[in-house]
Amino acid sequence: MIRRSRRPLATALCSILAVAGAAGALAEPLVVHCGKLVDVRQGEVLGPHTLVVEDGLIAAVEAGRTRRAAAEVVDLGDYVCLPGLMDMHTHLSSQLSPMSFVDRVRLNVADVAYRSVVYAERTLMAGFTTVRDVGDGAGVTVALRNAVNAGVIKGPRIFTAGRALATTGGHADPTNGLRFELMGDPGPAEGVINGADDARKAVRQRYKEGADLIKITATGGVLSVAKSGQNPQFTEEEIRAVVDTARDYGMHVAAHAHGAEGMKRAIRAGVRSIEHGTLMDDEAIRLMKEHGTFYVPTILAGEFVAEKAAEEGYFPELVRPKAAAIGPQILATAGRAYRAGVKIAFGTDSGVSPHGENYREFALMVEAGIPAMAALTAATLTAAELLGVEEEAGTLEAGRWADVVAVPEDPTADVTTMGRVAFVMKGGVVYKRP
Ligand SMILES: [Zn+2]
Repeated sequence: MIRRSRRPLATALCSILAVAGAAGALAEPLVVHCGKLVDVRQGEVLGPHTLVVEDGLIAAVEAGRTRRAAAEVVDLGDYVCLPGLMDMHTHLSSQLSPMSFVDRVRLNVADVAYRSVVYAERTLMAGFTTVRDVGDGAGVTVALRNAVNAGVIKGPRIFTAGRALATTGGHADPTNGLRFELMGDPGPAEGVINGADDARKAVRQRYKEGADLIKITATGGVLSVAKSGQNPQFTEEEIRAVVDTARDYGMHVAAHAHGAEGMKRAIRAGVRSIEHGTLMDDEAIRLMKEHGTFYVPTILAGEFVAEKAAEEGYFPELVRPKAAAIGPQILATAGRAYRAGVKIAFGTDSGVSPHGENYREFALMVEAGIPAMAALTAATLTAAELLGVEEEAGTLEAGRWADVVAVPEDPTADVTTMGRVAFVMKGGVVYKRP
């Protein structure tokens, strides 16, 4: 599990500077008046509330519009406040295009890094104050996270896996689809493992590089230049070695999985979350409930790639049929898993779809039969639980990080309002206002 100290230094400093800059005072809090407030713990939309923000944290949540001495008062009128949104499946270092397959050999790390700065800011401005980044081929998201935390650039709180782990020829093998001379024989440092020893070495290498968690590709995937989008690609012993080693370093494991066999191996081996879960069968659902495994559906990615598969030349020919066949199945799986009682955390796979459009997942979850309030809980409280930061984030309660967003309408009445986030505060710093 990932633990963060209650008051990260950078956050505390930022909020002090922001308050001082706004009003020239250090001692007074910042006060936010909300027209309504979404209580994701109780599953209720409440009336007017006042949030008192101090040192980057929510100091108090008061019913009504309370008056108090403040360095700054943000009056949001009728706007509806929610906890900062949390996307548990992003790729901030890339964004899919017909050029993506060429970009793998064309772009330098610096090219990737400059783009990721823009993607991070778009994500924050869309109301996503925390993301879990699950796979970054160039290895730039550790530096991206550090730059955000240092206040150098604007972005969400980032929990990153760094480069994902695969087996030879597996979904995240960085040399898939290249010509033989360029394929080489990548090993644990590059994220390619074969056997338990390699698995342990790769996890320790990620730890050394500063990753917060580990991502594995337990089955084939849609966008890799390889034949199968669902075959099991790790032995259960290999996954166990990854999970056990990660635990030693306080990291959890996220497993990409489309096919049921690879998914079940990952669940039994103790991964914390299943990503996509497309061909999840009843036994996989039963195992997830038994092991307390989180499910991150990423319906948006499925819809997006299926749409692009219809376009001539968007994907390499080996990828196109997989995108058409696998993509549309995630929506039904998400609905089935929800009804069966699997814990669902919100995730979009943004970077497949454009960054900053993460909100589109909400409407798709509702289309899958997940009530809007449950979708909001998945993007806040449940996501915080997945990350192990439920004491710090995921609700608007005293003592939590002052991560707050606001939308114009009640999202339980019209979930598309989540695409109209007009106020964004992270760690007590206001990044966007109506
Ligand atoms: Zn992904």
